[in-house]
Amino acid sequence: MFTDLEWLIKLQLLDYEIYQLTADQRKANNNVKKLSDEVEEISLRKIKQGRELKRTIEEKAKLLDDIQEQKRILEQKRVDLQNDKKTKKEHIRREIKKMEQAVEVFTQRVDTISQDISRLEQEIHDKEDRVTGLKTDLQDEDKSIVKVVKKTKKQLTELEKKRALLEVNIRKPFLNHYNRIMHIRNGVAITYVNEKGLCQGCQVHIPLQFQQKIKLMEDYNICEGCGRILVLKEAMEGIVE
Ligand SMILES: [Zn+2]
Repeated sequence: MFTDLEWLIKLQLLDYEIYQLTADQRKANNNVKKLSDEVEEISLRKIKQGRELKRTIEEKAKLLDDIQEQKRILEQKRVDLQNDKKTKKEHIRREIKKMEQAVEVFTQRVDTISQDISRLEQEIHDKEDRVTGLKTDLQDEDKSIVKVVKKTKKQLTELEKKRALLEVNIRKPFLNHYNRIMHIRNGVAITYVNEKGLCQGCQVHIPLQFQQKIKLMEDYNICEGCGRILVLKEAMEGIVE
């Protein structure tokens, strides 16, 4: 048998043990990543809404100023109406009516904006609560990682020692390829051709001629579908798919 392959199969057996031992830790790490991403996303949305809130509050303030100003002019017009001569009265009345309508429209607008402000404030508040909750979850997850690491540390150190001893027997290009595939393929870098003539890893069909070549185990054969190393099933005994 191709010597590097022989060592790689031993490495795979060991790595599968390591992979199972570190499963909880990986799961916790994934949760941490997911929770952190969510915190980040909510925080960004909160900042955006904060800016919207600021704009809306400014708009409301401006509208209230405008209403004040309109009311002031309106008062003046009412005084004019009392003091003016008969000829102009009708004109002033019309102006007053127009301004009263404008004040009403502005006031309605202020009402709408006030509702927007309340809504935004509530939404920002909800986001703050959510972030607080997520941060608690994150702390719990961190604690669970510490626990898991502590529990598996001894066993893992042993396995890693063995792994280091195995690794030195494998030529770098093969080892690098193996390690890369192992990381992207859930801990399984070596697999076999199943009874249906498919790669057990990715279910891609393996041509007959290639299957014959794999059986010889004299070369480094790679599945075109998943990049895993293909070997005889018998050589893989003990490795779970
Ligand atoms: Zn494959």
